[in-house]
Amino acid sequence: MKHTCPPIPYGRHWVDQEDITEVVNVLRSDWLTTGPRVEQFERQFAAAVSAEHAVALCNGTAALHAAMHVLGVGPGDEVLVPAMTFAATANAVLYQRATPVFVDVEPETLLIDTTDAQRKVTARTRALVAVDYAGQPCDYDALNDLARRHDLALVADACHSLGGTYRDRPVGTLADVTVFSLHPVKPITTGEGGMLTTMHASLAARAGRFRNHGIVQDLHRRQGDATWFYEQTELGHNYRLSDIQCALGISQIRKLGDWVTRRNQIAARYHQALAHHPAIEPLHVKGGVVHAYHLYVVRLTGAAGAARRESVFRALRASGIGVNVHYIPVHLHPYYRNHEGTRRGMCPAAEAAYEQILSLPVYPRMRNAEVDRVIETLLDILAEYRTFAA
Ligand SMILES: *Cc1c(COP(=O)(O)O)cnc(C)c1O
Repeated sequence: MKHTCPPIPYGRHWVDQEDITEVVNVLRSDWLTTGPRVEQFERQFAAAVSAEHAVALCNGTAALHAAMHVLGVGPGDEVLVPAMTFAATANAVLYQRATPVFVDVEPETLLIDTTDAQRKVTARTRALVAVDYAGQPCDYDALNDLARRHDLALVADACHSLGGTYRDRPVGTLADVTVFSLHPVKPITTGEGGMLTTMHASLAARAGRFRNHGIVQDLHRRQGDATWFYEQTELGHNYRLSDIQCALGISQIRKLGDWVTRRNQIAARYHQALAHHPAIEPLHVKGGVVHAYHLYVVRLTGAAGAARRESVFRALRASGIGVNVHYIPVHLHPYYRNHEGTRRGMCPAAEAAYEQILSLPVYPRMRNAEVDRVIETLLDILAEYRTFAA
């Protein structure tokens, strides 16, 4: 079969003329980095998620690292991390010389299994990271309860779920610290970028220092008595986000509401066409949440398991459909097996899901005709596969 249609990616940014104008204005201004746009973007981002404080960082991974730092995670500490996530979630724990302890996920949602998390709490556990996998907010009432009972800090890795809500409360306000990614496939983009939100002024101030070498910015004092004066009070990094990038973010965040709505429409279209298929199981969505649908993930069920997923994946790619697999469970990566002593069998539900999952394309600019092309191609491939396997 010949395919003349352009390929459909699994995710894609949307940059329009308004975005371009905002960025070009900054290029013509006096500030390329750490000027007025950073604070403006932080204010607008905080307002968009109803958080008290927002701190812009150079990417989501740096924001995760900052989260670990401001919560005081350090050598000897353990941090509970779900196995089904991008490696950066656990890497941030290692950057602080602490130990990630992998927690299994619920098979129907691939969100952190609170029972398994509870079981893995020890005297050394310092923090718990919730990952809003695919864009679905975790059960934050249960997680906050668990965190309070064991005196743990709760971090939300909300890299997928900007624009989502849990029991009418926006993602960004549901944990002690929430972390977002602004990479082009994520809900909004600044090229590379990240954001940390919190309700605690002291944590926000500490994150602000951490992204700038650990330097205390006492601007009043600098402008008043000694313009050259600054002090480094702790060890930080250069994790800053530039004015150029923040200008793009300011323009992008205005579109967030419409884009989450569009992602939900696409998900509903997939769901209607696929949910009753005997070999397809979309992930379960719990009541009381607005799902941000960074990803639309299905499980390919039935006898052939991983072999079937592999052949369906290849056939879709060959037809120009950019499917993907999110994620290889982190504890199975060679680095973790070799350096952290993790092994297969530690998180059986995540491992089993990994053999079956497939992320279908979803991005705000995707048209219904493209969604339908994905659906038809997938159904054709499954029908062929069934005939072939029989
Ligand atoms: C994208 C992502 C990150 C890392 O964000 P970057 O901006 O790419 O550094 C971390 N965690 C999850 C769950 C992600 O999807």
